[in-house]
Amino acid sequence: MTDCLFCKIVAKEIPAEVVYETGRVLAFRDIDPQAPTHVLVIPKEHHADAAALAEADDGLADDVLKAAHAVALQEGVTDSGYRVVFNTGPGAGQTVFHVHAHVLGGRNLTWPPG
Ligand code: 5GP
Repeated sequence: MTDCLFCKIVAKEIPAEVVYETGRVLAFRDIDPQAPTHVLVIPKEHHADAAALAEADDGLADDVLKAAHAVALQEGVTDSGYRVVFNTGPGAGQTVFHVHAHVLGGRNLTWPPG
């Protein structure tokens, strides 16, 4: 998608600090981190949100979840605990409409979220 920020990161038109990559998935540090570890995991293929990703029905959601786990291992946050969040829709705080999992860790995370 031509005017999608995260598609531009996939295409390397916009720089990002990539921490993990496979043929179908990219993970990069959030530009405005909310925790010591704050990585965004995206499918390279454009899907607007988690609902669209789930309906893609091609194993891509599985790839994103596995990449989130790989990132958490790589960042060393699995023992202390971490959070994987898909804000889905404007009412839930989604601002970039290319599906992304936030992987957050490295500090105590409170519940419920705001
Ligand atoms: P959302 O609010 O859609 O769940 O999350 C979007 C996330 O993308 C935010 O945490 C925001 O900081 C991050 N973000 C927005 N623009 C950029 C960018 O250009 N580069 C990177 N690395 N992260 C971005």
